[in-house]
Amino acid sequence: MSEHPPSMNSRERVLAALNRQPVDRTPLCNPTSVATVELMDLVDAPFPDANRKPELMARLAATGYTELGFDTIMPVFSIIQESAALGCKIQWEQKDNWPTVRMNEPIWTSPDDINVPADLCTHPDTRCVTDAIKILRKEYGDEVAVIGKTMGPWSLGYHCFGVEPFLLMSLDDPGKTKLCLDRMKEITVEYGLAQIEAGADALTLPDHATGDLVSGEYYERYLRDLHIEMAERLPVPIILHICGRTVDRMEYIAQTGMAAFHFDSKNTPMESMEIVKERIALVGNINNPETLFSKGPEVVREEVYRNLDAGVQLVGPECAIPLQTSIENLKEIPRAVRDWHAAYDR
Ligand SMILES: [Zn+2]
Repeated sequence: MSEHPPSMNSRERVLAALNRQPVDRTPLCNPTSVATVELMDLVDAPFPDANRKPELMARLAATGYTELGFDTIMPVFSIIQESAALGCKIQWEQKDNWPTVRMNEPIWTSPDDINVPADLCTHPDTRCVTDAIKILRKEYGDEVAVIGKTMGPWSLGYHCFGVEPFLLMSLDDPGKTKLCLDRMKEITVEYGLAQIEAGADALTLPDHATGDLVSGEYYERYLRDLHIEMAERLPVPIILHICGRTVDRMEYIAQTGMAAFHFDSKNTPMESMEIVKERIALVGNINNPETLFSKGPEVVREEVYRNLDAGVQLVGPECAIPLQTSIENLKEIPRAVRDWHAAYDR
């Protein structure tokens, strides 16, 4: 038996859950992209323009609320907006693909190369995001939580140094790596603050120290203290996003003071809740490549129930969803949450 506050709107519900306070029902949250080709067609806001024009970015993002029934709107579909402003070469792609950084043309090789350009937050590709957040804040800001995104220093390292050179440096020269991370973190903070100023209620902070590339010990050595600093310097709830199997670093993640951890379905809801306890909220963890992309609504429902049964505080896809995901599968997530509360949570 649980005590519920009277009914809340989407924004109140999300912010309460991020602060681990009581909610009227579990919020539907997408800390990363829920854009699909079907949604792009529906509102005539296709990639790549929806990553570069604020009106289209806002219009496509709003479908997460208006069409899918999530409690959040998240306009930052890509992970490369600030990297474009830093000078990385971007492959903007077409409607059916995300933009990517051309990794074979890294822009930096040493700590001394790292500089925060004066136009970091006024460059067209970063301003697109802050302008989209302003539009969404004005249109939906009273009722829906608007979530921004600023990339962490580890991810920026991949983009600016190249994945392989950056990982090799982390093996060969921890001191140099730490110096690089320390300089790059200012980019994360500055861009995060610009989005907060534009009206973001919360920020996703992806930092791709992923299960398949680095260990839990690495996370502790290189990132835990930086993430504590992020949580202190960015004055809104921060949702850390790391893909893959991460139970070996969840203890450290729980110590960061961030509001939530966006976790992957490679970790079961039960084992993850047991590690983090009440120290950080969990958000996730509906599987993308199998469940949302290729299975049907019944399997989506089973996964939603598994998360709710374990006490996961916010439910949504584990990561940016494949662009070909069906709307029907996505709409099953809110349906399942409502049905679960009606059946088991009186
Ligand atoms: Zn991810």
